[in-house]
Amino acid sequence: MNCKKIRSTYWCWLVLVATTALAGCGGSEPPSQTGREGKMVYVDTVTKKATVMEVADSFPATHPRTGKRTLMPALYCSKCSKWHPVPPLDQINRKPRATQCLKTGAPLTADGPWPEEQSP
Ligand SMILES: [Zn+2]
Repeated sequence: MNCKKIRSTYWCWLVLVATTALAGCGGSEPPSQTGREGKMVYVDTVTKKATVMEVADSFPATHPRTGKRTLMPALYCSKCSKWHPVPPLDQINRKPRATQCLKTGAPLTADGPWPEEQSP
């Protein structure tokens, strides 16, 4: 697993999300039935809690409960077993280590166990 792979995985996932959002009302078959379409994982920068919400247009995204813009996009760290906040998409390419864990250097992935799946 290297940086490039993770980054491309991340972008693939984004494209998938965007495509699904655009396809919305179309008759075309969705690529998967995971219940994740149009949603993504965020980390609240205040509470540090991971949360799942619909994909936002801009970041930080507005927290549905507090109404404050505290939600950053998140990627999963398998070493820490938690979601880490990452820079907004328009900045992620400018930061070489944006998709690595700051503590362990482990590559971050969009494929971790989603918060809502962890604690039913
Ligand atoms: Zn980590």
